[in-house]
Amino acid sequence: MKKERNPRGIRESLFPASLFAIYLGVLFLMSGIHTGLIVFINRSELPDLVQVLIPMVYWGMVAVGLTLFTRSKIRSTYEEPLHKMAEATSRVAGGDFSVYVPTVHTQDRWDYLDVMIVDFNKMVEELGSIETLKTDFVSNVSHEMKTPIAIIKNYAELLRLESLTEEQKEEYARNIEDAAVRLSALISNILKLNKLENQRITPEVEAYDVCRQVCDCILQFENAWEEKEIELETDMEDSAFVEADESLLELVWNNLISNAVKFTPPGGTITVKQFSRQDTVTVSVSDTGCGMGAESMKYIFDKFYQADTSHSREGNGLGLALVKRVLELLDGGIRVESEPGKGSTFSVTLPAAAAVKQEKD
Ligand code: ADP
Repeated sequence: MKKERNPRGIRESLFPASLFAIYLGVLFLMSGIHTGLIVFINRSELPDLVQVLIPMVYWGMVAVGLTLFTRSKIRSTYEEPLHKMAEATSRVAGGDFSVYVPTVHTQDRWDYLDVMIVDFNKMVEELGSIETLKTDFVSNVSHEMKTPIAIIKNYAELLRLESLTEEQKEEYARNIEDAAVRLSALISNILKLNKLENQRITPEVEAYDVCRQVCDCILQFENAWEEKEIELETDMEDSAFVEADESLLELVWNNLISNAVKFTPPGGTITVKQFSRQDTVTVSVSDTGCGMGAESMKYIFDKFYQADTSHSREGNGLGLALVKRVLELLDGGIRVESEPGKGSTFSVTLPAAAAVKQEKD
C-alpha cells in the first residue's frame, strides 16, 4: 500500500519507495549487463586474466557508482539541512534571532524535514519579537522613570538654596510630591500589568450591579471634571448586573473616565451611557476631547503608547493596556470610535449575570 502523502500534502518519507524501485531497477540492469558480459567473455578468446578482470572492474565500477550516489543522496537529504539547522540553533542559543534556514524543497514538495525547518524559522521569529518586546519594555520603563527622578533631584537641589521664599519652597516641594506620585503610579501600574499578564490574578467573578460601580467611579473624579468645567451627562438603567470581578473592573472605569477628563478641554462634555442586551451589558464613555486619528487608534492599547504627547506628563501610557488585559480576563470586549478634534467613545461590553438573563427570558 502506497501511503506517501498525508492529508496536509506533506511527503511522509525522505527516501520514498520510488527511490528503492530505481535501485532495484539499476541492479537488475547491471546484473543483466553482467550476464551479457559473461556470454561475451566465453565467446571471446581473451586471456584468462582479462576474462577475470572484466567482471571485477565492472562490479567495482557499479559498487563505486551506487556508493557515491547513496552518499550524495544522504548528504543532500539529511546531512546538509541538519548541519544548517545545528548551526542556526547554536546562533539562536547565542541570542541571534535574525537566523533563517531555507527549506530543502519548494513548498509543493515539502517533506517532514522542510516542515521542521519552517516551524523552526517561525519559532525563532516569535522568540525574536518577544525579545524585542522585552527590550522595548525595559527601555520604556527606564525612560518613564528617568523624568520624575530627574525632577525630584533638581527640585531637591533647589530646595537647599538659602535665598528661597516660602512660596518657592512650597512650589518646589509640590513638584517633588507630584513627581513622586507619578513614579509610584507608574510602578503600581507596571506591577498590576505584570500580575495580570502572568495570570497571577485569578478573577473573582460574581454578579454585581455595574451601574452603581460606574456612578461611584464618576463621583471619584468629580473634583477633576468640575475644575475643568466639564459637563457630565449620564444615560443609564437603574441597575444592570454583570458577571465580573468588581475590583478589576474598577480599573477599567477609572482609566476610561480619567482619560475622558484628561483629554477633554475645559467646557467640554463627557457622556456615560449604559444599556443591556440579552446576554451582555454595555457601558460607553464618550467625550468631546481631542480625539484620535486612525493610525493612533491602532496602538492605544500597546504598553507605553501615548498618542497625545501634550498630556504625557499626566499618564504613563499603561492605562489602556491594563483595560484591555482586564477585559480579556473577564471575557469582555472594548471598541473605540474617535475622530480627531471631535472626541472619542470607548464602549465596553461585559457578560450579563445569569440571574438577570433568566428573569428576562
Ligand atoms: P495615558 O496614561 O497616556 O492616558 P493610556 O494607555 O490610558 O495612557 O492611553 C494611551 C493613549 O491613548 C493616550 O496617551 C492618548 O493619546 C490616547 N487616548 C486615550 N484615551 C483617550 C481619549 N479619551 N481621547 C483622546 N485620546 C485618548
